[in-house]
Amino acid sequence: MRHVKFRMRIKKGNTKPAKTSRMQKGTDKFSRGIMAPKTYKIDRKEKMSLWERAWLPEILCGMLITGRHFLKNLLRTQEMITIEYPEEKKQLPPGYRAEHRLMQREDGEVRCTACMLCSTICPARCIEIVAEDVGDNVIEKRPKIFNINELRCVVCNLCVEACPCDAIRMDTGRFENASFDRATAIYDKEKLLSNKADGASNLSAGLY
Ligand code: SF4
Ligand code: SF4
Repeated sequence: MRHVKFRMRIKKGNTKPAKTSRMQKGTDKFSRGIMAPKTYKIDRKEKMSLWERAWLPEILCGMLITGRHFLKNLLRTQEMITIEYPEEKKQLPPGYRAEHRLMQREDGEVRCTACMLCSTICPARCIEIVAEDVGDNVIEKRPKIFNINELRCVVCNLCVEACPCDAIRMDTGRFENASFDRATAIYDKEKLLSNKADGASNLSAGLY
C-alpha cells in the first residue's frame, strides 16, 4: 500500500492581515446601491372605533360561549364528554396496546421458547432475553431472563405479531405505569407472567 505523508508548514510570525468580510469591503448589494432595503406600510383605511379597540364585544362573546358550556355541563352531567378520571375510566377500544404480559402453558410453564424473534424485530431494542435449556427435545429452550424496558418501548405491537407461539401479548389494558425510578419500569419475567388481562376491554376479547 502506498503511504502519502502530509506535512503542514507553519511560518512563524505570520503578519498577513485577517480577511475582511463582504460588509467591510462594501461589496454587499445594499451598500453598493443595487438593492434598497424594503419597508412595508400597512394601509388601514378603516379606522377602528374606541368600542372596537377595547375588544369588549369579543371578550363578552367569548365569556358567553364559556358560560353557556359551563351551565350546560352543570345541568346535564350525563351528556358531558369528560369523565372524572381516575375514579371513572373509559372503555378501552378493541386491540388497545397496553403493558405486555407473558402467556403460560396449561402446565403453568412459560409459553415462550426463547426464539428471540420479538427481540430481533423490536425497533426500540427494549427486549432482553437470555435463553436456557429445558432438557426437552421438542421445546428445547425457555427464557431464563426476559426483560422489557417499558420506558423505551414505542408500543408498536411488532413483538406480539412476530411471536410464533402467542407467548407475548399487549392486552392487559394497563397503561398507568408511571414510576418514580427507571428500574421499576423494566419488567422482568415474573412481573410479565403476573400481568393479566384484567384491565382489557371486553371488546378485545374476540381478538385473541
Ligand atoms: S411493542 Fe414494539 S417497541 Fe415495545 S417491546 Fe414490542 S416490539 Fe419493542
Ligand atoms: S415471546 Fe415469542 S417471539 Fe419472543 S422469544 Fe418468546 S417465543 Fe420468541
